Amino acid sequence: MSTALLDATGLSVRFGGVRALDGLDLHVGEGEVIGLIGPNGSGKTTFFNTLTGFVFPADGRVTFAGEDITALPAREVAKRGIARTFQRLRLLLELSVFDNLMLGQHLSLDHGVWANIVARGGLRRSLEKQRETARALLRYFSDSLPDRLSEPAGSLTMIDRRRVEVCRALIRDPKLLLLDEPSAGMTPDETRELMQDLQSVKAERPALAVVLIEHDMEVIESVSHRCVVLDYGRKLCEGSYSEVSQDPAVRRAYLGVEDE
Ligand code: ADP
Ligand code: MG
Repeated sequence: MSTALLDATGLSVRFGGVRALDGLDLHVGEGEVIGLIGPNGSGKTTFFNTLTGFVFPADGRVTFAGEDITALPAREVAKRGIARTFQRLRLLLELSVFDNLMLGQHLSLDHGVWANIVARGGLRRSLEKQRETARALLRYFSDSLPDRLSEPAGSLTMIDRRRVEVCRALIRDPKLLLLDEPSAGMTPDETRELMQDLQSVKAERPALAVVLIEHDMEVIESVSHRCVVLDYGRKLCEGSYSEVSQDPAVRRAYLGVEDE
């Protein structure tokens, strides 16, 4: 098994009578790309929410880079190097592309750090540096996006908005990137493009681990090293794409295939 970056063990989350996660174990190795699949309501987003300090588990433990992060709030988790995108785009469409990217950056800085930058008269310098970082990141995704830093995010196409959202997650140079259905609302061609972008990012940052929630099995097959299938908050099975897609329980629960 690859060097552990993240280890979730026995994670359980309940919402009233619903067991959103039910004793889930999941291991993510350094640099690994995991495809997380499962029917609607199987706990995929709850898993991300639990890792990132938005939801606290009733039971179980999460260690990340050797540290127990189970009870840490979102801001602290982000500082340690876990970044995410949301199932519904969370860009502020009236704000510029740059401002949206900076929302990712600012969240990671303490007020004290900001006060220090301003006091030293370094704000302009710091902003210029950040514009450069933002341009460099956007360049992974598209040749034209870096020139659109000052335009409102709302003027971008759906795929470019997604790209900005993924860049916002990457701006703090995370160790683990969690992508919650990034292809939602996109055409199959756009999805393919976005996955190619993701592969360019991985080529530049081989140590970056990614967990990708995705319904399209072709997408999962093309980008992930390992697949994990959830059902009712539990791990139904895991393995390579071909192992998982041959599993009778997966074919029944996820692909809707009756017993042959
Ligand atoms: P998925 O992302 O796999 O579609 P979710 O993690 O969103 O699944 O949901 C898992 C289960 O938990 C569902 O039954 C859902 O209705 C329930 N659930 C998720 N979040 C909440 C919440 N904040 N309050 C109540 N129930 C929730
Ligand atoms: Mg979801």
